[in-house]
Amino acid sequence: MIEEIKELERISRLLDPPEKKRIEWTNHVTTHANKFLSRLENNKAYLQNEDQGAGILKYDIEEEPSELSNLLQSFESHIQNDGINAASAGHMGYIPGGGLYPSALGDYLAAVSNKYAGIFYPAPGAVRLENLLIRWMNRLMGFPESSGGNLTSGGSISNLIAIVTAREAAEIKSKDFHRLVVYISDESHHSLPKALKIAGLGEAQLRHIPLDAELRMRTDHLDEIIEEDAKNGLLPFFINGSLGTTNTGTIDPINMLANIARKHNLWFHVDAAYGGFFKLIPELKDKFNGIEKADSITLDPHKSLFLPFGTGAVLIKDVKAMHQGHQYTADYLQDLVDSDDEINPADVSPELTKHFRGMRMWLPMKLFGLKPFRAALREKLLLAQYFNEQIKKVPKFECGGKPDLSVALFRYVPDKYDANIFNQKLIRAIQDDGRIFLSSTTINGTFWIRVAVLVFRTHLRHVDLLLEILQEKVDLITNE
Ligand SMILES: *Cc1c(COP(=O)(O)O)cnc(C)c1O
Repeated sequence: MIEEIKELERISRLLDPPEKKRIEWTNHVTTHANKFLSRLENNKAYLQNEDQGAGILKYDIEEEPSELSNLLQSFESHIQNDGINAASAGHMGYIPGGGLYPSALGDYLAAVSNKYAGIFYPAPGAVRLENLLIRWMNRLMGFPESSGGNLTSGGSISNLIAIVTAREAAEIKSKDFHRLVVYISDESHHSLPKALKIAGLGEAQLRHIPLDAELRMRTDHLDEIIEEDAKNGLLPFFINGSLGTTNTGTIDPINMLANIARKHNLWFHVDAAYGGFFKLIPELKDKFNGIEKADSITLDPHKSLFLPFGTGAVLIKDVKAMHQGHQYTADYLQDLVDSDDEINPADVSPELTKHFRGMRMWLPMKLFGLKPFRAALREKLLLAQYFNEQIKKVPKFECGGKPDLSVALFRYVPDKYDANIFNQKLIRAIQDDGRIFLSSTTINGTFWIRVAVLVFRTHLRHVDLLLEILQEKVDLITNE
């Protein structure tokens, strides 16, 4: 047996390469990554390859090892250079993300040290770091020190944790699930009904509150609607306010919603996945008014804090209910020694073992300090306004109102041509060109093209390039 163990060790040691090999591989990967970053400015924001990345399927898992250079080559051809280039300054579709370089270094340290950030006992420093970030976000939103939270994989899981916690706080029994009423709008994010379903509350009634002309949730009849529901034997339960809808970046009247929720004793959730970190700049102070009265807030550092995908956050005042919804223990965890003042991430989330996300958030924020984040957010806000003002000046272009955040809507209205069809052609032409990537939406039957400025690399010259491309494509389609 000893012989066999030694023979197995000889092979299994391949999993733990010596320093020379590690340095060689690391250099190879960082050289590749830096080449990618240095060429970003000249590469397209959107690439459509015929095989749609299918080439990667040739690289299935096998017994024998492969060369790193081959693997990097296949990554480049089939993954990196296909689809939306999310790192590109030209990515202005959907709600773009970020990908700050030091986040990759934070991930590297998190993976190499493999700290177990789900529980305090095995990694007290790691858990303290994640909770420090939660406390910073709580302060930023005006929540009390005693509030809780979690670094999640994204806004969807954050919304789920908020809904599960709200369910616990209200002590709702399954016999009443079908009587629950959740107040949202047509512009609320689809992850909310999805989270309700996952939380077992799929039978709850979704009350879609009407929107005003600017697509903001109307509050003028909300009181009556809630009272009417209660009178009809239903259980008004949860109000969602969007602080920046995904579609148009519109901000719901947060303070009014907070007051109505408080009056009727409903859980008030603010889905600020897109807009949350715009709190770092003073311009939007009024729009954030009342967010401190919320019971829970969803944030997405991988949107307005420019981090790489896979970084969300949820903030919740009622830590007890958060624990009630998520805390479990087991025989094999008997050695755990809890901290008196630190929350275990695993006790307030569906996850146990998890990625140590704190590092990818903390490292860039400490290395850069807050100043460039504030500047970048204000810059993106102004770029969206600048785009809006410029496009309005071009004949036959129409825009969808002054943007609340960094999403602007526009469309071209030709003299003799169906506008919806024309704009479908226009977005197709922009996407085929690929230098800038935009997406579109339909509101009340009208087809709009969206410009979402949120990649930290997007600057004035990219918006000017977009304006040039638009004119070029309109001329092309008109002369077809
Ligand atoms: C993006 C977004 C979500 C979902 O977040 P993910 O990180 O994609 O899971 C939820 N709500 C709003 C308003 C969003 O913009």
